Amino acid sequence: MNAIGIDIGATKIKGVVATSSGRILIRREVLTKANREKNEILRDIISIADFLKKESQKKHFNIKGVGIGVPGMIKSGKLIFGGGTLTQLVGLDLAKGIKKEIGFKVFADNDSNCFALAESYFGAGKHYKRVAGVIWGTGIGGGFIDKNNRGRNRHRMSVEIGHFVVEPNIKSEPKDACGARGCVENLASGKNIVRRYYAMGGKIKNAGVKEIYRSKEKIAKKVLEDAYKYLGMGISILIKRTKPEIVVIGGGVSSLPQSAYKKLVYYIYRYADKFSSKIVKSKLGNFGGALGAASLMFRRK
Ligand SMILES: [Zn+2]
Repeated sequence: MNAIGIDIGATKIKGVVATSSGRILIRREVLTKANREKNEILRDIISIADFLKKESQKKHFNIKGVGIGVPGMIKSGKLIFGGGTLTQLVGLDLAKGIKKEIGFKVFADNDSNCFALAESYFGAGKHYKRVAGVIWGTGIGGGFIDKNNRGRNRHRMSVEIGHFVVEPNIKSEPKDACGARGCVENLASGKNIVRRYYAMGGKIKNAGVKEIYRSKEKIAKKVLEDAYKYLGMGISILIKRTKPEIVVIGGGVSSLPQSAYKKLVYYIYRYADKFSSKIVKSKLGNFGGALGAASLMFRRK
């Protein structure tokens, strides 16, 4: 059995056709260009789904449906809160819009939930019952899978770790999309690392997180240290709330060199019990979220 999975990120939209055992048969990605209007983004999502559908037909792959992962909160296929990225998609009935064009059954869920699903069935969490996944990218999100809980949809839960407020007294930052100051995403996401770097007077032109990491500037070091610390705090709260056996960290910013990841882990254990959960980096690669979105279509034990 196969399914199409589409991961809508703030930087890229990624699509796969995957088997129920987690093998990716076809993959495709396009740039999201997140400052566009919602219908233009939706059109690209549909065209990826359509491409994957046609390629599958050519190869006689049997497709069960389309799973969609999107940042934010989903209720009956509709995005009701978009976090700090892709806010223009709020209110859009993604499941309905795509079903109308593609004809397959469509199911949408939070992107971090999809990522956690992929990790728990095909990745680092394969041999564990309680698995948390954290996406550290343009935005920040978390998902939690409990394989012991077989109730309908009960086995997965998205955790808005990006909007846990970890620095309530901060005055110097603008309000985040969630309405708060000092939430994890506001201080530690890729987008906000860059924003804070320039707000504090960073000198490198067109810097991304990688350039900031490589920079010798004091400001660059401070912004990143803050990111490790506040995300570390956020993940420690996630650990206390969901008690996962393993936490898998993925997303674009998590691909910084090992020393960045080590600092993050240092902060997680500074705030959470050292022996509570194992922490690992995702090895599923760039299409992990899309694979998880596809696996929304497979019934699992
Ligand atoms: Zn927030």
